[in-house]
Amino acid sequence: MEIKIAKNAGFCFGVKRAMQMASDELDDKSTEVYSLGPLIHNKQAVSKYEEKGLKVVEEIENIPSNERVIIRSHGVGEIVYNEAENKSVKIVDTTCPYVKKIHKIVNDFYKKGYKIIIIGNKTHPEVVGINGWCENSAIVIKNVDDIDNIEFDKDAKYCVVSQTTVDIDNYEKIVEKLNSILKDTVMKNTICSATKERQLSAKNLAKEVDCMIVIGGKHSSNTQKLVNICKDLTNTFAIETKDELNKEELKNYKSIGITAGASTPDWIISEVIDFLESI
Ligand code: SF4
Repeated sequence: MEIKIAKNAGFCFGVKRAMQMASDELDDKSTEVYSLGPLIHNKQAVSKYEEKGLKVVEEIENIPSNERVIIRSHGVGEIVYNEAENKSVKIVDTTCPYVKKIHKIVNDFYKKGYKIIIIGNKTHPEVVGINGWCENSAIVIKNVDDIDNIEFDKDAKYCVVSQTTVDIDNYEKIVEKLNSILKDTVMKNTICSATKERQLSAKNLAKEVDCMIVIGGKHSSNTQKLVNICKDLTNTFAIETKDELNKEELKNYKSIGITAGASTPDWIISEVIDFLESI
């Protein structure tokens, strides 16, 4: 059996940075450390941080004054910064710089009178956060067909941004259709290059192998996109850890490709490789 690993797989720059910052905060025991929601969409990695003392809450109001709160790499809306300040909760901001850039674009254009369109998933924390920089007024478009049900203001100016993990083909279809409908529009492709690289290397590898194993959280949007890309090209197994793999089933394949979402730690990928090598 040949095992091939995608050129770009696992933790991206933003997640690596956020996890390191969180780890440094947990080493400092002066006050408690909270995070607003799970740090990343990977429950095995989150459990490790909880063992080190991290407390996960959903709202700032659940955090006592003078403690610390980690804002995760997905980012949050403006109101969360104000709530933390009002409650004297110290912010440790691990928002990915690429997501911060989207917040700034959205806020600047919103203040200039533009209406905001976000290409992405309405309920994804990153999109919820971006929407929080234009007073939650954005139109969120997930698929090209959604556009048919939207009533656009023909006299308005629009600024279009995207969730960083959006599928490139889907993004292009939506932009093409928006361009054919709207006149005064600023298009900002804010898909992260880490996402594009992971998708492209997964695609290339899936064309070469008999089956693909995609490692990552079931709630990780970028992992699920990798799963869909691979599924179109070859037999694909989506797993969170090696425990979900079936030895007997995998013995049927001569070549196996491995990729992993941007929130999958290296140690989980290594465990999968070790398991395959043991077959
Ligand atoms: S995928 Fe890109 S935008 Fe998202 S955290 Fe990673 S580097 Fe940042």
